[in-house]
Amino acid sequence: MSAETSLKLQTDLFIGGKFVPAASGKRFETTNPATGERIADVAEAGSEDLDSAVAAARKSFESGPWAAMKPRQRGAILKRAAEKLLARAEEFGRVETMDNGKPIFEASKIDMPAAADCLAYFSEYADKLYGDTYPGRPDAFLLTLREPVGVVGAITPWNFPLLQAMWKIAPALALGNAVVLKPASVTPLTSLMFAELLAEAGLPPGAFNVVPGPGAVVGQAMAEHPGIDKISFTGETATGKSILRAAAGTVKRVSMELGGKSPNVVFADADLEAAAKGAVNAIFYGKGELCSAGSRLLVEESVHDALLEKVVDRAKKMTPGDPMDPKTRLGALVSEKQRDTVERYVEAGKSEGAKLLAGGRRASVNGRGAFFEATVFTAVAPSMTIAKEEIFGPVLATLTFQDEAEAVAVGNSTIYGLAAAVWSRDIKKALRTAKALKAGTVWVNTYNLYDPGLPFGGYKQSGFGRERGHHALEEYTQVKSIWVDLT
Ligand code: NDP
Repeated sequence: MSAETSLKLQTDLFIGGKFVPAASGKRFETTNPATGERIADVAEAGSEDLDSAVAAARKSFESGPWAAMKPRQRGAILKRAAEKLLARAEEFGRVETMDNGKPIFEASKIDMPAAADCLAYFSEYADKLYGDTYPGRPDAFLLTLREPVGVVGAITPWNFPLLQAMWKIAPALALGNAVVLKPASVTPLTSLMFAELLAEAGLPPGAFNVVPGPGAVVGQAMAEHPGIDKISFTGETATGKSILRAAAGTVKRVSMELGGKSPNVVFADADLEAAAKGAVNAIFYGKGELCSAGSRLLVEESVHDALLEKVVDRAKKMTPGDPMDPKTRLGALVSEKQRDTVERYVEAGKSEGAKLLAGGRRASVNGRGAFFEATVFTAVAPSMTIAKEEIFGPVLATLTFQDEAEAVAVGNSTIYGLAAAVWSRDIKKALRTAKALKAGTVWVNTYNLYDPGLPFGGYKQSGFGRERGHHALEEYTQVKSIWVDLT
């Protein structure tokens, strides 16, 4: 453990209720992207470890105390865990910040409370998911049961490590499934801490397991594993496609939360001050490493200059800072590798003719770290690389439109459909546009607001299935029909 923290970190695999080293003895390093320093060496799971985790989960699901528990008791454990997580939000937030580079303000004050809220929300569903009776036959008693799917394999990305995992873990456990979680390799720490917290809250061994390890090995093996009934994946669209192919061999259920290139549409009649603030939040919150980032700002041409002046002014004030400083709002990118990717996109933007208005360069804090300036481009055409591809960094591409029809056409012109926003004082225009945009979430006169009760997921190649809300319950249950003969 690095000297920069006295936090208690868990660095072994969590299988069957215990922390254990990998069968191979292998470990991999996780580093702090703001300093480049090693935080810890984490056990690296291989296929043998995955088999053990799946066996523990299977036993827990089929015959363990988890299977025998009354649903309400299950819910009570999860509620207790939510309370514990909220009480330890600061500590979990510090670890998330070290591992991911995000500002401590976001990790402790937003991500962790949101993760606890999500868990509390789903804990209440444990005994509240009813089946139906169907009155269609006088000679029979017909009913349906909603049953858990079994062992759920959760594969998660690095941008919101614990929060993204919670969107899967909370509904899956609340409904009686057992879970095997593979966190992203660059951010495994809070998932392991959370395993310990769940055990402290009373979760029986095997119901929740964590196997950090390379996606191409452990993730791929999860998608192929005959002992896993469902894969819930969040990550890049290309990885999602590969998981879909791998999961086909065992006809697994899958749900996919994939990438985005979300349009943030500002009409001329909008409150431009609010829209500028919203546009900056949409792209620079979470360093732009957000699947739902408002990475394409679509502005009605007549207000382009007025809006961009405000956006650029705000962007220039978003200087990268030490993520551990509570005042910092732009932290370090997750890794040097990600910073290289962002830099390549900025170069592509410049060489394809977009106009750079702010940022565009690497940055450092105290002479080190994977920081990048808050970057704003304008004069971006829909055909340019920075208008089409997900950058996953603090880079805004501004495009213009003449009217509502063009706004919708440009908004819908990518392969993605995760999120979008519309800014207008004309409620009819705003709602017409919200309906016409092909996206799983559309904000009106705001951006980046979330609630565990409102579903989240993609249209088009941003994925399928929904996390959060009662729609998520469908993802972690299956329906059994029972026909009772009355003759
Ligand atoms: P990746 O797709 O690279 O990785 C996501 C997870 O999949 C990681 O745990 C990774 O492991 C694992 N993985 C990698 N290769 C495979 C494989 N062949 N089989 C199975 N699992 C594999 O995404 P990132 O971590 O880079 O996350 C960023 C991406 O996530 C962005 O595209 C973003 O849009 C998307 N995202 C989508 C969200 C949504 O809700 N729609 C929310 C948040 C992010 P390892 O870390 O070891 O490589």
